[in-house]
Amino acid sequence: MNFTLHLTADCNLNCVYCYEKHSSLRMDMQTAIAACDLMFSFGHKKNGFSLFGGEPLLCRSLIERLTAYAAERNKALGGELSYKLTTNGVLLDEEFLQLADDRNIEIALSHDGLLQDIQRVDKAGRGTAERLEPKIDLLLRRQPDAVAMLTVIPQHVERLAESVEWLYRRGFSRVNSAIDMRPDAGWDDASMEKLAAEYFKIADLMEAHYDSARPLRYLNFTSKIAARLEDRPCIECRLGIKQPSIAPDGRIYPCNQFLNNEEFLMGDVFCGIDAEKQRRIFEESLKAEDTCVGCSLEKRCRHHCACLNHSLTGNMHEVPPVQCMEEQAVILAADALAARLYEKKSPRFMSSYGE
Ligand code: SF4
Ligand code: SF4
Ligand code: SF4
Repeated sequence: MNFTLHLTADCNLNCVYCYEKHSSLRMDMQTAIAACDLMFSFGHKKNGFSLFGGEPLLCRSLIERLTAYAAERNKALGGELSYKLTTNGVLLDEEFLQLADDRNIEIALSHDGLLQDIQRVDKAGRGTAERLEPKIDLLLRRQPDAVAMLTVIPQHVERLAESVEWLYRRGFSRVNSAIDMRPDAGWDDASMEKLAAEYFKIADLMEAHYDSARPLRYLNFTSKIAARLEDRPCIECRLGIKQPSIAPDGRIYPCNQFLNNEEFLMGDVFCGIDAEKQRRIFEESLKAEDTCVGCSLEKRCRHHCACLNHSLTGNMHEVPPVQCMEEQAVILAADALAARLYEKKSPRFMSSYGE
C-alpha cells in the first residue's frame, strides 16, 4: 500500500512554473498518525509513503515523528516500509540525510541544471544554483543513486539536453525531466519541434555513456525502452488504489492533481476510504481514451494519466495535445536509441534485453 502525503502547500521557493497554490497549511501529527494507522489497517506487508509538498522539508519535525511512529507499527507487522521524498534541496543537511538513511527515505532533488538560476528562484527572485551546490555534494555522498528531476519550459527548451548533461557531469546518474504542463505554459509547434530535437541529443548523450562505469540513465527513455522490449505498459496506474493522495487536512483523493476536487473525494484518514467511490473512480479510469484507440504507441504512452488529463482538459479521458506530442517525441527518440544500442551490440543493453 502506498499513500502520498501532502505535508504542506507551503514552499520556500517561487519557481517560475510552479502550479501549487501556496498557503501556510500544514499537516498535523494527529492527521499523519491517522494516515499511518489507515495504511497499516489494510494489513499489507509492503508499505510506502511519498512525502510531498510544496516543500516537504518545511515539515521536518513532522517527518521525524511520523517515520518514528510508522517504524514502530511496521516492526510489529514485520513488513517492508519505505519513503520517497522530492525536495528543492534548500533545507537539506547532514542531520536530515542521516534520518533518511535510518528510515529508508529515498530523496529526489528537483534541480533544473543550467536553468536553475533562471527558473528556480526564491521568494525574492534570487537564483538558487549556488545555494544548491553544497547540498548536491551532501546528497550524492549519502545517496549516490539519487534522481535529479528537471522541468523544462518552452522559453528555454533548447537548453534541456545541456542541462541533463550538466546534471550528469555534476554526479547524477539518474536524471529525469518533465515539461511544464500548465495550460498557459505556451507550448506551440515550434517549441515542440525543439523539444523533440533535445530528446535526440539526450539519446546521443545516453548512448555515449551507456557502457561506461557510470552510465547515464535518463528515466523517460529507460521506461519506454523497457515497456517495448518487455511488452508491458510503461506505468501501471490503478487510479485511486495504487497511491491515494492525502491532503494536509486528511482528506483522501485518487491522485495528486485531484487534491481538493470534491467530486473525487474518497474519504478521510479518520473515517477511512469509501470503497464504493474508490471502485467507481478506478473503473471510470479504465475506459479507453477515444483519441488513442488504435494508436501504435498506446501501450507505452502516458495517455491514461487521469491526473494530467483532468488537470488540463477537465476530463480524465481527454488527452491534452501537448501530452500527445510529447509522448510521441520521447518514444521516437527512445526507440532510435534502443535501435542503435542493439545494432552495435552494446554489452549493457544486450545483457538487459538479450537478443
Ligand atoms: S520547489 Fe518550486 S515547484 Fe516545488 S513547490 Fe516550491 S515553488 Fe513550487
Ligand atoms: S501518442 Fe497520442 S494518440 Fe497515441 S496513445 Fe499517446 S496520446 Fe494517444
Ligand atoms: S493518474 Fe497519473 S500520476 Fe496518478 S497514478 Fe495514474 S499515471 Fe500516475
